[in-house]
Order: sequence, then C-alpha cells, then structure tokens
Amino acid sequence: MRKITFFLLFSLFSLCSTAQYPFEPWSANISVNSSDIDKYGINNCFAEEEISPAVFARMKGKSYKDECTIPLSELRYIKVLHITLEGEIKMGEMVANRAISRDLVAIFRALFEAGYPIERMVLVDNYNADDNASMRDNNSSAFNFRYIPTGGRLSAHSRGMAVDINPLYNPYVRERDGKITIAPIEGKDFVERSGAFPYKIDRDDLCCRLFLQYGFEWGGDYKTIKDYQHFEKR
Ligand SMILES: [Zn+2]
Repeated sequence: MRKITFFLLFSLFSLCSTAQYPFEPWSANISVNSSDIDKYGINNCFAEEEISPAVFARMKGKSYKDECTIPLSELRYIKVLHITLEGEIKMGEMVANRAISRDLVAIFRALFEAGYPIERMVLVDNYNADDNASMRDNNSSAFNFRYIPTGGRLSAHSRGMAVDINPLYNPYVRERDGKITIAPIEGKDFVERSGAFPYKIDRDDLCCRLFLQYGFEWGGDYKTIKDYQHFEKR
C-alpha cells in the first residue's frame, strides 16, 4: 500500500513538473525568464492559431461585436514574446487577420531578438474594446471592429489588417479647418516628432523598416493625416 501511495505521489509530482508553466495557458502581460523560455522552446513562444472558444469568449460583444462582418475563421490568435523598455520579457497576444498573422509573428520575433521595446500586448477586449483606453495604456493591438477616430467609416482594424504599436508615444493626428484631433489625447506631447523619446517610431527605426519590408504601409507616411502607431496591409 505504501508503495502504491509513493508511486501515485511520484506520478503526480512528475505530471506537475512537466506542465508547461508559465506558458500554458498563454497569459499575456506575465513576465517570463530566459530559462523558462529555453525549457518551453522559443519556437513555441512565437505562434499563431485559430480563435479558440476561450479567446472568443473574451472577444464576443467587445472587439467582435454582434454586427461584425468578418468571419471568425479569418482571424488568428497570435502568441509572441516582447521586451519592455525596462528589459522585462513578457508574453504578448494579438488577434489579426490570417492574411497577415504569419508576417506579424515573424516581425515580432525579429523585434524581440533585436531587443526592440514594446510595452504591452494584450487583447483590446481587456479594455472592453475601448480603443482610447487601450492606447492610453500604450497597448499594442490589431483587430477591433470599430470606426476611424473621426467616425464615418470602418477602420482597417475591423478586418484585423492593421496593427498599432506603442500607441501612446505614436499618436494619430489630424488637422482640419484649424481643428486638431489627437488620439489618444494623452499622447499630445508626442505630436512633435523632431526630438528623441522612448518608443518613438520613425522611418529609420527597426519596427517601421520591418513592417515596410513585409509590404505594410506606415501611417506616418500618410499625407492628410499622420498615424504614427499604425501599420496596415491592403
Ligand atoms: Zn491603427
């Protein structure tokens, strides 16, 4: 009997120690260290998959609204690692169109390996799909069924074909009839782009160069507005 008990305890211990803690389930914004990553395998830390029922439960009625016109089968859940300005390695997540999901995994891997800082990457659903709240928190994200900041038409984010990176420091800016729209408004100090500041995206930085290389356009190149956080594939 004692032998059996010992065997059972030993089996339970082995089962626990082989569980893929802290990576399963994937928990965005949780810090991990390099020995955890080595054990789990770096390739497993950069992956894309179909939208699981658990992920859809988070999106439903938020980024994936009832009137959403894109089939769920066109979207992918992306798991990546990113590194903060403080050097912390974190799990990141994003939902995007399957037409760009592989590009995104490759781009985020290259950024991670180069130590390019991204502060936060969690689903916009964590902010109730409120884009302003997400941008204010400097959260990088892609899919969200929503309209452009000035209203009128659907954003490319509605199809998951656009990505916003470090948005607080790279705001959307539109000037028309003397009226300036800045989103998020908390990023107003970063409308002026001539100086140097953390998380700044310009044409020379690695993030911008990679997205352009993969065939995306950059919102900083737009003529009538500037959307420094925004990369989109048409
Ligand atoms: Zn955008």
